[in-house]
Parts: sequence; C-alpha cells; structure tokens
Amino acid sequence: MKAAAALPLVFAAGRAFGAPARSRLILLGTGGGPTPKPNRAQPAQVIVVNDAAYVIDCGNGVARQMVLAGVALSSLRDVFITHQHSDHNADYGNLILLAWGGTLTSKVNSYGPPPLKEMTRLFLEMNDYDIRTRMADEGRVDLKPLIVPHEITEGGPVMQDDNVKASAALVDHGAVKPAFAYRFDCPDRSIVISGDTRPSANLVRLAKGADVLVHEVMYLPALEKLIASEPNATTLRAHLMAAHTTTEQVGRIATEAGVKTLVLSHFVPGGVPVIPDQVWYDAVKPHFAGRLIVGRDLMEL
Ligand SMILES: [Zn+2]
Ligand SMILES: [Zn+2]
Repeated sequence: MKAAAALPLVFAAGRAFGAPARSRLILLGTGGGPTPKPNRAQPAQVIVVNDAAYVIDCGNGVARQMVLAGVALSSLRDVFITHQHSDHNADYGNLILLAWGGTLTSKVNSYGPPPLKEMTRLFLEMNDYDIRTRMADEGRVDLKPLIVPHEITEGGPVMQDDNVKASAALVDHGAVKPAFAYRFDCPDRSIVISGDTRPSANLVRLAKGADVLVHEVMYLPALEKLIASEPNATTLRAHLMAAHTTTEQVGRIATEAGVKTLVLSHFVPGGVPVIPDQVWYDAVKPHFAGRLIVGRDLMEL
C-alpha cells in the first residue's frame, strides 16, 4: 500500500474512492531457448491493467497463450521486447497481425532494441498480401499505421500512460546488445521482468524494492547433460555461462534488490526431462528469504 500511495494521482482517475486498479500478471511462456518444448511455451508475459494488455516478449505461440489465458487479443496496448533473440521475438509481428485478424483496431506501440523498426517494416511487407486482402475483402482498417515501433538503445523511462509507467535498464546478455530488463509501476504494485541476463547491477538497481521480480534462471547440474546432447556444445556452454543467471545467483539478486516476490521463469533447461518444481525451489530458496514462486505457463500472479 505504501508504494501505491506514492504513485501519481493520474492512476486513481476514474476509480471509485480512488481505489487503485488491480494489475494482473500472467506468465504466458516460461521455457528458455529457441527449441520448442512440450511442457513450456516460449518466453512471454502479459500485464493487464484496466483491460489494457501490455505484453513483454513474444516467443513462439504468444497469441495462442494469450487466448488460453483468457486475455482478449483486442485488448493489446503495448508490446515490449527485451532483446532480439528468436525465443523472445519470433511472434512479435504475428501477435499483432493475429490480433488484427480478430477485432483489434487500435494502435499498438512496440518498444525494444534495434532493429525493431526494420523488423516491423519487413514483417508488414512479408504479410502485405494478407493485409491487403483482408482490407479489401473484410473491410478491415489498414494494419500498417496501427503498429508504432519505438527503438530503445539505453536505460531510462520508456513510456507512461494512465495504467502503467515503464522503465528499462541495460542488462548483460553476452553478445546480444543492447538487452533490456523492464520495470512496470502499476497502480497497485511494481513488476520487473529481467529478460535474459547474467547477474546485472543495473537489474538490481531497476528492481530495488519491487513487489515482483520475474527473473530468468538456469540450473547448472542439469545443464551439463543438456549441453552434451547438442551438436554445438562448446559454443553453447560458453554462451550460457556468459549470458545467463544460475539458481544461486538469482536468489542473491532478489535479496540484494529487496524484492518481495521472486518468480522464476525462462527455465534452462526447460524441456524434457522435466526438472521438478521442488528442485528449482530448493536450489534458489537458501539465497532468498522472500516469497519464491516457480513459474509455470499461464500462472497468474
Ligand atoms: Zn531467452
Ligand atoms: Zn536471449
């Protein structure tokens, strides 16, 4: 309640007795890495405030996961991409195209690192036939002017509307630069999404005192087995160690940032054989005294 009281009055506009809107956070996909998995969809989450949906990352299947979560695609307001790895952006364009193929007629702002503008332009070009056909055949509005991409190259404020204030911090994801974590100050609480990163001081600063931190995680003991089965084992191992966060590290980061709740997501390994929730929990818990949640697809927090 302390955090809510400190927020600008604009958040309370139109609410009975000034009661803050309740934000919903839904994990749409919790598996890390580009390989499709039977048990976890690819990285994506949605924050819903006052029936407006803010999607963070667009892994493969994000539109389908939104529907399964019961969030109307037409409620899509803004899209945030943490970094340009395919497990986070494969369905960036598809999410908006498929929402438009339904009843979306309002503007969608997208935010993310370059080349977001070029990706948007090329996506629209690739789907030009479908867009033109549906405009002529079904009387739809043009999709092109509805998507407004904003490239971000440094940390700081990103956007603010009546529902949320979003800010970003540069994180360290090895060769992928820039990569961002996002913080969303909602009317009732603050939510931070780490994106992919190794332990990052910028992330700790961004997450200071946040109510909820959704952070990527990898489990080293199981990783060795996973790596052994990949043809590019040596390179993959080096990438994982330089660009991601272990179970022990993520607990320490949450402690240092002083967050109330730590939500594990972007599990590596996240596929089969399945690592039981209890294993993840036990590996992180000694390093974080707050509320710890092992994320699953479609979990609402
Ligand atoms: Zn990833
Ligand atoms: Zn990545």
